[in-house]
Amino acid sequence: NAPLSEVDPEIAQVLERELERQRGYLEMIASENFVPVSVLQSQGSVLTNKYAEGYPGRRYYGGCEEVDVAEELAIQRAKALFGAEFANVQPHSGATANAAVLHAIARPGDTLLGLSLDQGGHLTHGMKINFSGRLYNIVAYGVDPETSTIDMDEVRRLAIEHQPKVIIAGWSAYPRQLDFAAFRAIADEVGALLWVDMAHFAGLVAAGLHPSPVPHAHVVSSTVHKTIGGPRSGFILTNDADLAKKLNTAVFPGQQGGPLMHVIAAKATAFKLAATPEFKERQERVLRGAHIIAERLSQQDVKDAGISVRSGGTDVHLVLVDLRNAEIDGKQAEDLLHEIHITVNRNAVPNDPRPPMVTSGLRIGTPALATRGFGDAEFTEVADVIALALLPGADVEALRARVAALTAAFPLYPGLQQ
Ligand code: PLP
Repeated sequence: NAPLSEVDPEIAQVLERELERQRGYLEMIASENFVPVSVLQSQGSVLTNKYAEGYPGRRYYGGCEEVDVAEELAIQRAKALFGAEFANVQPHSGATANAAVLHAIARPGDTLLGLSLDQGGHLTHGMKINFSGRLYNIVAYGVDPETSTIDMDEVRRLAIEHQPKVIIAGWSAYPRQLDFAAFRAIADEVGALLWVDMAHFAGLVAAGLHPSPVPHAHVVSSTVHKTIGGPRSGFILTNDADLAKKLNTAVFPGQQGGPLMHVIAAKATAFKLAATPEFKERQERVLRGAHIIAERLSQQDVKDAGISVRSGGTDVHLVLVDLRNAEIDGKQAEDLLHEIHITVNRNAVPNDPRPPMVTSGLRIGTPALATRGFGDAEFTEVADVIALALLPGADVEALRARVAALTAAFPLYPGLQQ
């Protein structure tokens, strides 16, 4: 039982260098966050040794008495946090949660109606070479080219025309709240099931700062590692007892074997933390930070460079930047921000004239920096740094120094060694 640094120094160095990278950069990938040390502890614990196929009290392996406690806590806390009757906390990731949802509520060949990938949807909502696009008949809705928002009349028109089995509401890159009641009304009108994938905005829902899909959707899926800031994993909620049974069967044995009990224990902790006033206060900073960035990127100097904010602002944790009329493209913008130690990702905009590996957009998110402690003053500074970086002739050295001042003032994982 020698330490990692002795057993495998190469991997030990990866861990060390990655910690340094996370400390030295401003993390603004909208889907990322920093888990608390308590979550790291569960994930690096002996629970990783345990096989526990089945569900608490109904396992196919002996010795599950302790992991049963962990999973039961995760289930009860997820239900309480989101006001749901049923929770399955076993999905290894958001994508496997979504695969299980479709396994439970649709059959191969059924028609699904979801937001297209290039307009902000997720791979699992029907991308051609994803399992969803290969197994199901996909009809996609998009966003209005003028407003960058989802046109519910268009969703209804497509639903009536194509009579989908499932309507999917949810996104990976969309800066506005969805109208869950309107989605449900359309689903009811055409006899479809409504599945909401709240992977991105679940933390905002948990904090009561975003409408909850739970009262409206037949099924809700999510990740735990984005706005919630827990371990990398997924979960599924429903209020329908019949669907609950189907979902449990779809996750295990339908889709997975042994659950990751170390991750499930960490989920329990993440859900516990998400019910605290501190979590709500943090999510408030997430939203204000995104708002501050959208405002700064809407100012005249940025507009003059042909850069705009899609949908004119945000009511969630991310800002989508449109570079279609700018000299700089998505890849160049991502690389330039990387040079000044800000990490974001390029993102296609609807009808993007540039290829997918280049794109004409950026997705900028605030959850990780809010977890790091940033408030209005720091987000105002970051917003200005980003704006100046995107303008022609940016002073890279000066901007990197401003970023370094912020990372130094907000140490990440103080005292932690990998
Ligand atoms: N659903 C949505 C809306 C997402 O944005 C993502 C991840 O980006 C997922 C599901 C998949 O999550 P994971 O990467 O854990 O498989």
